[in-house]
Amino acid sequence: MLKVAKFGGTSMADAVQFKKVNEIVKDDEGRKFVVVSAPGKRFKEDNKITDLLYLTHAHIKYSVPYAPVFKIIEDRFNSIKEELKLNIDLDHEFEAIKEKLDNKCDEDYIVSRGEYLSAMLLASYMECDFIDAKDVIFFNYDGTVNVVKTHEKLADALKASKKAIIPGFYGSYPDGSIKTFSRGGSDITGSIISAAVKADVYENWTDVSGFLMADPRIVKEPKQIQKITYQELRELSYMGASVLHDEAVFPARQAGIPINIRNTNEPDNPGTIIVGEGKDIAENHDDNHIITGIAGKKNFAVFYIHKEHMANEVGVIKKALEVFDDRGISIDHVPSGIDSFSIVLPAEEVERISHELVEELKTKCNTENVHMYKNLSLITTVGIKMAFKPGISAKLFKALGDNSINIRMIDQGSSEINIIVGVEDRDFEKAIKAIYDAFVK
Ligand code: ASP
Repeated sequence: MLKVAKFGGTSMADAVQFKKVNEIVKDDEGRKFVVVSAPGKRFKEDNKITDLLYLTHAHIKYSVPYAPVFKIIEDRFNSIKEELKLNIDLDHEFEAIKEKLDNKCDEDYIVSRGEYLSAMLLASYMECDFIDAKDVIFFNYDGTVNVVKTHEKLADALKASKKAIIPGFYGSYPDGSIKTFSRGGSDITGSIISAAVKADVYENWTDVSGFLMADPRIVKEPKQIQKITYQELRELSYMGASVLHDEAVFPARQAGIPINIRNTNEPDNPGTIIVGEGKDIAENHDDNHIITGIAGKKNFAVFYIHKEHMANEVGVIKKALEVFDDRGISIDHVPSGIDSFSIVLPAEEVERISHELVEELKTKCNTENVHMYKNLSLITTVGIKMAFKPGISAKLFKALGDNSINIRMIDQGSSEINIIVGVEDRDFEKAIKAIYDAFVK
C-alpha cells in the first residue's frame, strides 16, 4: 500500500518528536513519501517557527534589526540537530537565508524556510532523499496550482526515490521564486502529492486521534469518529469542527484517495478515515451508529419575513436575497414556510446595518412583517445513515423537548445527511449534550 504521510507542526516540534516520526515512517514500508511542516509549538506558550519567520520579515519590512528573532529560530533548529547528533551544515543554510534577508527578500521566501529546514533535518536523520518543494510544486502567476506540471515533475522526482522527505507549505512560480499556500498549507502539499503518486491513502499525522463526535469542551469524552465521508466532514467542518486545512481535501478527494487522520503521539490509534462513498457506513445496521457527529456555532442572526399569500407571488425570496447580495453578504440558510421565510447568517456580518436591512426588506418585499432576532445557535447533526432511516428527527426533537430546549428553527439539508436546528445561544451546550446522549451510547 503506497502512503503519503504528512506530519504537522507539533509532530516536528523537537528532537523527541523527530524520533517518533522516524519510527512511524519506518514502521510501514508503504510510507514512501513524507511531507513535513515547520516545527510548531512544544508547549502552550511556545512559538511556531513559521510565526517567528513572519515576525522576522516584519522586522526587515520596518527596518528593525531582525537578528534577535532570527537567533531564536537558529537555536530551535540547532537544538534539534545537536540532540539527534546530525552531521549537517546548518550554519551555511542560515547564512544563505540571512543574505537574502539583508536584500529585503519576499515574505513567502522567508516564511517557507521553516518547512525547508525541517525537511532537511528529517532527511538527514532518516538518511533518505530531500526533495525541495520548489522543484516539484508549481504555481501559476494567478496563485493557482499548475496541476499538470506539478504532477509530471512530482511523478518523475518520486519515481527516482525510495523514500523522500518533502517540505510542505510552498512551491514556486514559473520564474522560480517561492510561493506559499495559505497558513496551515502543508496539508495541501500532502494532498497534492498523494494525488500525483496515486497513493492508496493520505495519512495526515497531527496531535489528535482524528475527529471526535462532538466538542470535548461540551461533551465529556466524546467517542472518536472512525469513518466519515467527505460530504459529512464538510457539514461538520463548516460548523466549526476542523482538523484539516479546507483546501487540502480537494486534490485527494478528486483522486479518490482516502485521508487518514492520525496522532503522532498515539500511533497505535487508527484515527479517523475520510472516504468518498461510505456505502458501508450507510449499510451498517448498528443502531448505535446512526449519526456520525454533531457540531454547532453560536451567534447567528435571523431575518424573518412574512407576507400574506406569498405562496401565490413570484420572486419575493429573490428580492430579499438581493438585499444581502448587493452588499456582498453571504447567507447560510433560508428555511421557508408557505407565507414566510427566514434568512439566517452570522450576526457579525450584519452587526451595524441590521436596522437598515430590515427597512429595505420591508420595502423590497412589500410587507411590514419583517423582524430580526439575534442570539441564535445552529447545531448540525450529521450522518449519512439518516437518509435511510425514519424517526431520526423525531428522536432529535424529543431529546431537545425532554430537556426543555425551545427549537427556533429547523432545516434539513437537501442531501438528507444532516438536520440543523436553531436554538437560543443560552441553550447551545445543553442542546449538544442532549443530542449526543440521545444518539450515542
Ligand atoms: N508552517 C505553516 C503554518 O504554520 C504551514 C503548516 O504547518 O501547514 O501555517
